[in-house]
Amino acid sequence: MKLTIVYDNDVYKKDIGLKSDWGFSCLIETRDEIILFDTGAKGRILLNNMQKLDIDPSIINKIVISHEHWDHNGGLKALAHLISGAELYRLGEESPSENMHLITVKGPHAITKGILTTGRLKGSPVDEQSLVLEGKNGWYVLAGCSHPGVEQILGASRQFGNIVGLIGGLHGFNDFSILEDLEVVCPAHCTKHKKKIYELFPKTSVECGVGKIIEI
Ligand SMILES: [Zn+2]
Ligand SMILES: [Zn+2]
Repeated sequence: MKLTIVYDNDVYKKDIGLKSDWGFSCLIETRDEIILFDTGAKGRILLNNMQKLDIDPSIINKIVISHEHWDHNGGLKALAHLISGAELYRLGEESPSENMHLITVKGPHAITKGILTTGRLKGSPVDEQSLVLEGKNGWYVLAGCSHPGVEQILGASRQFGNIVGLIGGLHGFNDFSILEDLEVVCPAHCTKHKKKIYELFPKTSVECGVGKIIEI
């Protein structure tokens, strides 16, 4: 499974015209499906980054929105013009277009083979869902902002298998010891203590940013 960061507060792959902005989006490519997790804040920046990374938005067949904050669902409208017939998995009950087939997520369930949602987890100020992805050597959690808290998200994800990686926005998270057993930590987007995580876990932490590719 291949993950490409297409929207983030930082740019990873410099000098090819990628733009950073407050928000998060990650493309997930499996053998059978192209799934977009979150859409960033601005459609213009999302589409610019996709174009520069040679990603054709019309090939996306599923979209998952982690939670209903503008920096995660803001790019949806721009995508709705370009994507036809995609399934949209979100906690909200609104579809940006008749073209998209809305699935309102409640409990945990499979999105496709090897990709599951934790289902709606209670969070402050908003509820959120995270994805749990089956990699070659274990399961990875992909999170938007981690409003429910990293501990709760990891706990809910462990029902699916052994969690070896965590990728995404971790917000104000600072209970660092719970990352000790992970093999990969990629703090993205709103993570307040990125530097501290790099310092504490030099062998397992991975720098994020637009253009970063992670094969799992
Ligand atoms: Zn966010
Ligand atoms: Zn948020």
